Amino acid sequence: MSGAKPIQKRRLINCPISVGLLAAPRASLCYNKTMDLESEVSALPGVGEKTASTLKKAGFLTVKDLLYYLPREYENYQSAVKICDLNPGKVTIIAKVKDAKTRYGRRRNFTITEATLYDDTDSIRAVWFNQPYRAKQLETGREFLFVGSYEFKNGRYQLMSPSVNLVPEELKDAASPKAPKSAILPVYSAKTPLKSTDFSRLFKGFRPEFAKIQDLLPRTEHTPDFVKPGARKEALFKAHYATTETEANQAREYLAYEELFELILAARLNRQENQKLRAEKIPYNDQAMKNLLKSLKFALTDAQKLATWEIIKDLDKPTPMNRLLQGDVGAGKTVVAAAAALQAVQSGFQVALLAPTAVLAVQHAESLNALLGPLGVKIGLLTGATKHKTELKKQIKQGTVDLVIGTHALITDDTEFHNLALCIIDEQHRFGVNQRQKLLLKSPAERAPHLLSMTATPIPRSLQLTVFGDLEISTIKQLPKGRQPIKTKAMNSLNAQDDLYPKVREELEKGRQVYWICKNIEDVPSQETISVKKQAETLKQAFKQAKVEFLHGRMKQAQKDEIMENFASGKIDILVSTTVIEVGVNVPNASTIVIMDAENYGLAQLHQLRGRVGRGQHQSYCYLLVSGDKPPTRRLKELENSTDGFYLAEVDLKLRGPGEIYGSLQHGALDLRIASLSDTHLIAKAQKHAADVAKNPEIMLEYKELSRSIKRYQQLTTLN
Ligand code: ADP
Ligand code: MG
Repeated sequence: MSGAKPIQKRRLINCPISVGLLAAPRASLCYNKTMDLESEVSALPGVGEKTASTLKKAGFLTVKDLLYYLPREYENYQSAVKICDLNPGKVTIIAKVKDAKTRYGRRRNFTITEATLYDDTDSIRAVWFNQPYRAKQLETGREFLFVGSYEFKNGRYQLMSPSVNLVPEELKDAASPKAPKSAILPVYSAKTPLKSTDFSRLFKGFRPEFAKIQDLLPRTEHTPDFVKPGARKEALFKAHYATTETEANQAREYLAYEELFELILAARLNRQENQKLRAEKIPYNDQAMKNLLKSLKFALTDAQKLATWEIIKDLDKPTPMNRLLQGDVGAGKTVVAAAAALQAVQSGFQVALLAPTAVLAVQHAESLNALLGPLGVKIGLLTGATKHKTELKKQIKQGTVDLVIGTHALITDDTEFHNLALCIIDEQHRFGVNQRQKLLLKSPAERAPHLLSMTATPIPRSLQLTVFGDLEISTIKQLPKGRQPIKTKAMNSLNAQDDLYPKVREELEKGRQVYWICKNIEDVPSQETISVKKQAETLKQAFKQAKVEFLHGRMKQAQKDEIMENFASGKIDILVSTTVIEVGVNVPNASTIVIMDAENYGLAQLHQLRGRVGRGQHQSYCYLLVSGDKPPTRRLKELENSTDGFYLAEVDLKLRGPGEIYGSLQHGALDLRIASLSDTHLIAKAQKHAADVAKNPEIMLEYKELSRSIKRYQQLTTLN
């Protein structure tokens, strides 16, 4: 009999037609004792063709995708109270509905749904914003479980945007001797087109499947106690069918551990694989370093010296460097990169510097030309706007250009190098894994280039230990001497004319320059945000003496360059711009930056924008304008109180999670489903456990699912 199982299993996975037709009965026919979590969702009982295609639309392709979609929270319905006993705050009630209606609000596309909820003691009003489907769901006379915030709003108490769930069977007759089996109810985040209740319904049908789930993690000397045989199926089961909060928490802890373990192991293996590659050894050239230092107008800070030294030591090895240079905006990373480039060029190799925007590439070309040109380094600038591209590419291929600075044009297939040995990537998080990889493949066959990534968005410690565990990191925490902290103030845009304009005028009169950041290029009728073009007009009227210009990403490259040049040379006083100037731009005479609609940006991005000022010896100012009559958000408050990018990065991680910060930037790659990276205690355990496996990777041969998952993580998080 034992030979029959694999055949049935194969039918299950590879014959979508029969799967669709047979849906439910088939599940009992093809009884498998183990379940392959990587099969398509249609392998699950009750998932026919139609459901499978709905799930696919929502992004659930495999059984694993679905089973690992954990409830967002659990509602404790045993705490339900009668309406007459309600107190303000978070409440749970079981009530019937009448008069559910949706109407449009004053703003476009804004809907308000209202209903009356009643039980045998009293009735209350409930409101939902922008959930028009509620009106249909809330059938008159039907009973639901509502969880929401009971607040005093618009002159009366009401239940604000409560969740709506069918009353669980066990609770329907609370007085019956059949005590409720479970005291909590999972709530899933909706994922279009699926609502929380759809997930609950689906999972009801899967209960027996969980028993077939196999373990994922190997056991080694340092495996923590809670990773015992069967731990995985138990955790997944309890995450979806928990009966108490303790159970739910234990389940999540195990699953978070799994996730952290995978990340950490992937990073370790990346590092090990990197160590097997060969790179050009670049011996330290003392004279070259002395020449560079002598030509500088300033002395390097201790932090810059240390970072330079760490890089030089890495270059002098036959394995490729994989180092991240992180330093707050204005910390002086460019000169460190210049020192590294000079070392490589002195040994006869080529260097490529990749920048995310043309504005930044041009600026790098200028400052590196000033630093390295006099020392004999030949520099080429390759952007979309470069005129004699073919000629330049020929020179790059022949090796007559030493240092090539460019944007994406640098990684196109027809850009070939003679002997590329060092790649420098500025603002590395702005590039996808594929783009970075393309650049690295431009070194001669059998050779991997050294990689120096730079970022002004510091990577929080917990991410360093997990996701970026394969990186060496150099940090410039200290700013060059004489910099004064930027004064930051969040204010309401309604008061801008009175509070802000005089301050701007004062700076302009002192001869300083101003950045003015707007969200959109042109007015968008449905949005309240102000556009670059309109704001430029307003400012021309308000500051008649000042020369005002605007800049945005959709302009022709030559035009952008001209405007940036005019701003840099002081011919423009106020530059109204979108966030194209966000990274790297360096105009030390600019002392003020105004950011409109500041509540729309992330903390890291605001900090970057703010870093455009405070680059010279002048006291600088950053004004964060909040639109309408909204109060400043927590993010803006944090920004007012701190200029420390490292601290702000930690706050950002807490407020938004790593997926938001690093995931989206790496093209949706890093999507931590469960783990919170603030859990240092789990991280420490997973590190020891993963180290055991990395030492003996053959353990993984028996763990196929883990191997595949790790491979995926390796590709997503690698920086080389
Ligand atoms: P970032 O780290 O943001 O890339 P830059 O490399 O653009 O910073 O440096 C910002 C400014 O500080 C530049 O004008 C640079 O010349 C200057 N600078 C760099 N290092 C020092 C130093 N040690 N002392 C004084 N000024 C410095
Ligand atoms: Mg920079």
